[in-house]
Amino acid sequence: MLRKNRLFTPGPTPLLPAAQTAMAAFTAHHRTADFKALFQRVLADMKEFVGTNSDVLVLACSGTGVMEAAVSNLTSPGDSVLVLTAGKFGERWTGLAKAFGCPPDVLSVPYGETFSLDDIRSRLTPATRAVFVQATESSTGARHDIEGIAKIVRAHSHETLLVVDAITGLGTTHLDVDGWGIDVIIGGSQKALMMPPGLAYCAVSERAWNRMEKATSPRYYFDLRKERKSAAKGETAYTPATSLFAAMGAALEFVRGMGSGNLSKGREILVDNAELCAEMTRAGAKALGLKLYASAPAAALTAITSPDGTDSGKIVKEFRETFDAVVANGQGEMKGQLFRIAHIGYYDYLDTIGILGALEHVLARVTDRNVEYGAAVRAAQQIYARTMSEKRQLVGA
Ligand SMILES: *Cc1c(COP(=O)(O)O)cnc(C)c1O
Repeated sequence: MLRKNRLFTPGPTPLLPAAQTAMAAFTAHHRTADFKALFQRVLADMKEFVGTNSDVLVLACSGTGVMEAAVSNLTSPGDSVLVLTAGKFGERWTGLAKAFGCPPDVLSVPYGETFSLDDIRSRLTPATRAVFVQATESSTGARHDIEGIAKIVRAHSHETLLVVDAITGLGTTHLDVDGWGIDVIIGGSQKALMMPPGLAYCAVSERAWNRMEKATSPRYYFDLRKERKSAAKGETAYTPATSLFAAMGAALEFVRGMGSGNLSKGREILVDNAELCAEMTRAGAKALGLKLYASAPAAALTAITSPDGTDSGKIVKEFRETFDAVVANGQGEMKGQLFRIAHIGYYDYLDTIGILGALEHVLARVTDRNVEYGAAVRAAQQIYARTMSEKRQLVGA
C-alpha cells in the first residue's frame, strides 16, 4: 500500500501546514518594522499560550539551551539545588547543575515512576536555592504532580525557586503557572507548537528575575536579563531565527482559532485534545493486553512496555517499514524495553485510531500473540464516544 510518513515521536512532532508555509514565505530582515511587529505579537501571544502574566522570552536553540539558561542565570557556584529525576530528562538537570558548579542533591525514582510528595518535602533545606523538575518525563511517559510539588516548594520558602522543564508538558497538560507559583517554565518549538526544532522559550517570575541580579554563574549568549531588555524594545539581543518566528506566529493563530478567537481557550482545547488522544491510546494498549511503562502516565506520550521479552526495536522497525510511522524506542538503558507514541500538538482522532490499528498489525507480525483485530481500535472508540457524549451533556446540547 501507499504509505504516508507520519511522526509519532515526542519531538519533533508533526508540522502544522500553515506554520510551514509561513516559514517558507518569510523574508524580512530582523531589524525592520515588519519583523518587530511579528516579534511583539508572538511574545504577547506566547504569554497566553503558556498561561502567564510574566514575560516570556524566545531564544534560538533547542530546549536544552533554555534549560541551561535557567541554571546559569539563577545559580551561583556552590549553591544547594534539588534535582528531581525519574528519567533521561531529569538526568539532564543533574548534568547541568554539575556543569555550573552546583553539586545537586538528587532525588531519583526508578524509570517509569514518579515522586512521593513527602520525599520531596523532606529533601528541602533552608539552603535549597532551587528545585529542578520535568512536568512530563518524555523518556518514560511519566507525569509529575507539578501542582503538588509547587505547593510544597512555595510553602517551604520564598527563596527556593521552582524550575519546570515543561518542554513536553506545555500544550499537553493543564499547568497554572502563576497560580501555582512556578518560577521558570520552559518549552520548545518542536513539541506542542507543531513547528520545527530551533526555538525554545521560558516564562520567568519576578522572584526569578531578582535572583538573576545576584547569581554569578557565567553566561553570555544566554543572559536572560539582556534578552529581556531587548524584548522590551521589540528586539532580540542577537539575530533571531526569523523564519521560525513566522512559523510560531502561524501556530499561535491556529491555537487561537481552536479557541474561536481566544488563545487561552485554544490552549485548553489543545491540552484536552492531547489528554483524549492519550486516554484512547492507553485504552487501546490495555485492550491488547499490553502494559503501560509509567505508573502515572502523561498526556504528552504513552510509553508501552514491549511484550513477552520482544525487543521494542523490532516493533519500532515494523511500524516504520510497514506503515512509515515513526514511533520512539526507549532511550539509554530503556532501549529495547519500551516504545513511545506521542500525542503532542498536531494529532487528531484519525491519527490516534490509525496508529492503534497499525499497532495491532505490528504486534501480530513481530510477537507470538494472538491479536484480535479491532480490539485496540474498539476500546479507543469507546473512550472517544463516551467523552464526546459527556461533553454534549455538559453544554446541554
Ligand atoms: C524534547 C525535550 C527536551 C529538549 O530537548 P532538546 O533536544 O534540547 O530540544 C527537554 N526535556 C524534555 C522533557 C523533552 O521532552
